[in-house]
Amino acid sequence: MSEEGGGIVELRDVSKVYGGDVAALRGASMTVRYGELVGIVGPSGSGKSTMLNMIGTLDRPTSGTVRIAGRDVARLSDKELSALRATTIGFVFQQFHLASGVPVLDNVADGLLYSGVSIRERRRRAKEALRRVGLGHRLTHRPHELSGGERQRVAIARAVVGEPDLLLADEPTGNLDSASGTGVMTLLRELHEGGTTVVVITHDRDIAAGLPRQIGMLDGRVVDDSQRDRAQRERVPAC
Ligand code: ADP
Repeated sequence: MSEEGGGIVELRDVSKVYGGDVAALRGASMTVRYGELVGIVGPSGSGKSTMLNMIGTLDRPTSGTVRIAGRDVARLSDKELSALRATTIGFVFQQFHLASGVPVLDNVADGLLYSGVSIRERRRRAKEALRRVGLGHRLTHRPHELSGGERQRVAIARAVVGEPDLLLADEPTGNLDSASGTGVMTLLRELHEGGTTVVVITHDRDIAAGLPRQIGMLDGRVVDDSQRDRAQRERVPAC
């Protein structure tokens, strides 16, 4: 894990304009430090997905600076960006994105496809990741044989099998009933306790409220940050 400089995620005055006139981000700035568990919360259209694309290095900003694990994204080639993503970032999406018809073990092992390790070793690590998410007894099941909550656990196992420093979860409970959603959030909390930096994107204020830090978005801007607001309150002497 490299910890040079500030945080694992640093956005400075990031703007993203689509098609020349839709400003999805308007000068958004924020830092996530190594080991944090953070919720990015805001209503539909506030710029959360665009923010996820920036943090996940899936897209480049129109202006401003994005640094991930100390690397300035603007200075990296597409190949270097892919390598940064493969080694540093794990993704979890609302729709799970599992390969249908493929056993759970191989769905997770495929998360290591570009790591250069043998299929035998990929499967060994996949089995271990599935044990960590409580699915050690479901290795040969196909995704359609699992509940929504179990599918999301498989997706999380795949995201963490390469031991990324940063886990990005985009509305991870969006397709789940509340009990399964609670289970998935507990799992994300456990991964955070194990040292992974976790960023959860959600429109659900209740989910965000259960996280140690919330960054609020509206109209492409960061409009509040529970940690910054707390620090400011502590600086102002009570009278
Ligand atoms: P959220 O994830 O909070 O719903 P988004 O980041 O998806 O917000 O969208 C922010 C704004 O940018 C919205 O007005 C949306 O319509 C617009 N937008 C997002 N992606 C694109 C795109 N690829 N092309 C044009 N407009 C987009």
